[in-house]
Amino acid sequence: MQLEAPNTGSTTDNCRYCLMCRHVCPVGHVLMLETLTPHGWGMTIASVQRGLLTWNADTAAALYHCADCGTCQAHCVTDQPLPDAIAAARAEVAALGHAPAGVYRVGAMLAEWGNPFEKQAPSGPSGKGEVGLYVGDEAVYRWPQALEAALKLLHAAGVDPVLIGKGRNNGYLASSLGLPDRAQALAQATLDDLAASGVKRLLVLAPGDAFAFSRLYGERLGVVWPADVVVQEVTAFLESQIDAGELKLGGGGAETLTSEAPPYAYLDPTHTVRMEGRLRPEGLKPEGWEAPRRLLDAVMSGPRCEPFWRKERAHPAGATALQFTFPYVAMMLAAARLEDAKSAGARVVVTEAPGDLALLAPMAPRYGLQVRGLYELLADHLS
Ligand code: SF4
Ligand code: SF4
Repeated sequence: MQLEAPNTGSTTDNCRYCLMCRHVCPVGHVLMLETLTPHGWGMTIASVQRGLLTWNADTAAALYHCADCGTCQAHCVTDQPLPDAIAAARAEVAALGHAPAGVYRVGAMLAEWGNPFEKQAPSGPSGKGEVGLYVGDEAVYRWPQALEAALKLLHAAGVDPVLIGKGRNNGYLASSLGLPDRAQALAQATLDDLAASGVKRLLVLAPGDAFAFSRLYGERLGVVWPADVVVQEVTAFLESQIDAGELKLGGGGAETLTSEAPPYAYLDPTHTVRMEGRLRPEGLKPEGWEAPRRLLDAVMSGPRCEPFWRKERAHPAGATALQFTFPYVAMMLAAARLEDAKSAGARVVVTEAPGDLALLAPMAPRYGLQVRGLYELLADHLS
């Protein structure tokens, strides 16, 4: 079932002279160009709407430099959906043929293969059951170790989830590129898989998937998420299983750290800011971004450092549509996260989103850092 997508027409009028989230925009931080800040994008779009500017290769390039990370909206006292307004403007630009070449290239891949990485069709649901694990494309093509380790942990907790969406993008990428029809088709494919499999609790590997299912589908695409399907992050589920005595961590693995273990930082994944408190099992009130930290406390003996851009102000690591339009910006965002962790005193960086890991890991040695996947680290310490 589809609803009408929200009207974001007034948002850019509200944003164009407002500086109240400028200081948290990660792209503003790394590029330091006024045009490429929240009010800059608001001004560009509003100027086109007033006939003072036109969409062309230059204005479209500026529009596509936004990371669609949600940090502006998360810090806006009036909750202006600026990222949705930017996505709506991109849809107009893409339809006019002015979008960067990567948009059309990725759009063609998504139309034929459901993912931007490989010419391989996604898999249908792996079976039927109450509990599912949404796999997506990045856990197949970018960082498969995370999927393997997460399944090992879930099996240890007595759960054998139905795999959903293996090899298929959740629709965020198409939406962010200004391809809403493609995004809706991908969202519908997820819903079809859920209906066919009977899954009622869908576990997700990272907040980006949780955001897509619990907010983006309804707020931006007008796609109604089934009311009887609960979305839960794997980290929160594992934490609940430990509390229930169903899962034990702390066994000595190859990565057991000694009293001389190096300081480490947990990097909140891309889109964390869009999931207020992040998802937790019902009845548990403390902030959900503590779940991965508590899991790490169970297996790490080195001191934990906290980067400045964490939790409700966590910046993205670059695993957004920027990878396909302006990859240098994605790299700069990843570098900024590593610099933040290093400044906090970390020598090891841990996170769980497969797309973030794939960007951060190759760059980490340049900063004297080692990057570890959260799920792999935990799986190494199963008792
Ligand atoms: S999102 Fe909110 S804080 Fe940011 S520019 Fe718009 S109105 Fe201002
Ligand atoms: S979505 Fe992110 S990159 Fe885009 S304006 Fe908002 S804070 Fe800046």
